[in-house]
Amino acid sequence: MKPGEKEKIAIIEEIKCPKCGTLIKNIKNKKAAKGRILKKVLAIGSAGGIGAWIGSSAGIAMFGSAISGTFPFALVAAGVMALATSKSSSTIKCPKCGTKLKFK
Ligand SMILES: [Zn+2]
Repeated sequence: MKPGEKEKIAIIEEIKCPKCGTLIKNIKNKKAAKGRILKKVLAIGSAGGIGAWIGSSAGIAMFGSAISGTFPFALVAAGVMALATSKSSSTIKCPKCGTKLKFK
């Protein structure tokens, strides 16, 4: 690692508001990003748990076996939750007009 590389702790993205033209800086701190990933993992984990719970009760009702229903439901719930969390993390509001802007 070269000297001075430690300073690069933030990833800065710039986006121009299509409504009012304000340049908005989105500073992504690496620590914050790590926290978001952890939150996402927790969300996916809990969604998987809920899916497994629904799946197991559905499995009992439909097939008489909890295992047959557990896995597909858990996977679907985790997938939906992953999509929802990734969408919310890339959206920012314009401080001037309140327009929702999407970051890549
Ligand atoms: Zn704006």
